Amino acid sequence: RKTCFRIPTGSKQWDGILNGGFQSRSINEVYGEFRCGKTQLAHTLCVMAQMPKDQGGAEGKVAYIDAEGTFRPERIIQIAERFGIDPETAVDNVTIARADNSEHQHELLTQLNENFATGEYRLLVIDSICALFRVDYMGRGELNARQQSLGLHLNRIGHMAEEFNITVFMTNQVQSDPGASALFAGADGRKPIGGHVLAHASTTRVLLRKGRGEERVAKIQDSPDCPEREATYIITTGGIND
Ligand code: ADP
Ligand code: MG
Repeated sequence: RKTCFRIPTGSKQWDGILNGGFQSRSINEVYGEFRCGKTQLAHTLCVMAQMPKDQGGAEGKVAYIDAEGTFRPERIIQIAERFGIDPETAVDNVTIARADNSEHQHELLTQLNENFATGEYRLLVIDSICALFRVDYMGRGELNARQQSLGLHLNRIGHMAEEFNITVFMTNQVQSDPGASALFAGADGRKPIGGHVLAHASTTRVLLRKGRGEERVAKIQDSPDCPEREATYIITTGGIND
């Protein structure tokens, strides 16, 4: 049985509440309103996953499913520079797949199976998991169909995490209207979208919110082995930091 590993976040405090980072063979989810740093964390993990093991990394390649069109290779370069790894190699080690719709997002997993079979990959990022399902199943009457198709998708992802010993990191939105984020700032109790299907699939869930000034707060909501603690972090040119 291959040993599990954890991919650190770039923030010591955040790693602290996660017992070192996001665990392999499991599905990790961060959710929160707009501009909390979900995508920035996704980019930071792309670099951390590649770092040498003696520096806390997993020495592996990354597959990144971009469902919102917000992946930026320039960010990988900047983050790689912070951690002192070769920026060009860092970008090359991230396999980007832009998903056009929910069906395409699901089909991408078939291709990724081949990538993962090489044994070189340690991280799968999905930013964000529900966005395209939300668009494709908009009508009220389509909720059951949406949940069913999302459930199949997550099921497959869970099996891949287990089979290939990779960390799955996915971002998710919250139920409130993102445009109204200022209105809801600081309000706790916002719920991730995706309902029971996603709640059941995610092994570890972390809620992100804005704190004071530039500060952001991560709070563990649901984890098999970490208590519900909070950590603060900031977003920098070099990615997520304390
Ligand atoms: P989310 O995905 O949760 O909507 P993002 O991960 O896109 O949020 O984070 C957006 C925030 O990241 C913005 O506040 C922006 O100012 C900050 N940000 C983006 N790029 C940089 C950078 N190069 N340096 C510092 N902060 C950045
Ligand atoms: Mg984003």
